[in-house]
Amino acid sequence: MNLNDLQLESIVLPGVDPKRPIIIAGPCSAETEQQVMDTARGIAVQGIKMFRSGIWKPRTKPGGFEGVGAAGLAWLKRVKRETGMYTAIEVATREHVFEALKAGIDIFWIGARTTVNPFAVQEIADALRGADLPILIKNPVNPDLELWIGAIQRVYGAGLRRLGAVHRGFSSYEKKRYRNEPQWQIPIELRRRIPNLPIFCDPSHISGQRDLIAPLSQQAMDLNFDGLLIETHCNPDAAWSDANQQITPEMLDHLLCMLVIRNANRPSESLAELRCRIDHIDDQIVELLSKRMQIAGEIGVYKKEHEMPIFQAARYAEILERCTELAKHLDLNPDFIRQFIKEVHEESIRRQMMIMN
Ligand code: PEP
Ligand code: MN
Repeated sequence: MNLNDLQLESIVLPGVDPKRPIIIAGPCSAETEQQVMDTARGIAVQGIKMFRSGIWKPRTKPGGFEGVGAAGLAWLKRVKRETGMYTAIEVATREHVFEALKAGIDIFWIGARTTVNPFAVQEIADALRGADLPILIKNPVNPDLELWIGAIQRVYGAGLRRLGAVHRGFSSYEKKRYRNEPQWQIPIELRRRIPNLPIFCDPSHISGQRDLIAPLSQQAMDLNFDGLLIETHCNPDAAWSDANQQITPEMLDHLLCMLVIRNANRPSESLAELRCRIDHIDDQIVELLSKRMQIAGEIGVYKKEHEMPIFQAARYAEILERCTELAKHLDLNPDFIRQFIKEVHEESIRRQMMIMN
């Protein structure tokens, strides 16, 4: 399947403003009919046209709130009837697809824990065959662009044409600032590979906490994302799932008012996108330097044990020679690389001297 030739159709349903950012908002989970209706009314008055709500919830461990299930479909029908908003839910099995289609849900998304599993995605794709509605495919939990593209291809292969991607960040073993690391270079590469595929950002699941949602949304806009999927709840602190990352409809309105939208007609690559790629490369350089210093330390231990001198002129000359030759092949200034390697080598020597003492 040639990714440049995908015949995609618009995910923008009639009556929805196609201008960036396209907004989908609603609670992480439907909890009660009252909570769904209160949240939906609060969101609808802000002029938002697409309402999200999970009814089958993929929870990491058993025993948590796993969603209200099919009972929530009737509540979503009521949202549509009373507010006019389109409704969006997560589907993870063939049965979910059949029930949600029967209930007239307008938009489906495939969750991050489903995208990782080609069997599950294929099952959903097969169940969708013959349907024509927007399908949003979240990135897999692990940072694997090919798996993400594979899921998009499976749904496309079943004849669905209104496709979009959702960037919700990538899990990491050690939780740092974000619940899920943004790794922006991955959705940027997705855009490069499938330029006409709309991409949403889900700052709620990236951040895991309320106060990072606005800056992440702004970053997504600066990177020319098409839309935002934001968890919104009438009483976030009391939410039965993902309470820390949900905001009220009023906070959502404020956030959207403060967003600065630049380059509305998406240039090939924005400054923010290019900077993001540079940042990623800088991170890799620093990580590689850290690995290099670690190995230099191991060599230091070896030299100490074998009573060898730290500085070995012939070895240094060999490194310089090899790297400057490589620089010439790669169209880099050999003097710059010579200077850079000299600095790196000096730092390695300093490390080894610390070991000797
Ligand atoms: C969700 O959007 O409610 C959800 C479960 O998200 P994810 O699949 O991104 O974890
Ligand atoms: Mn959630």
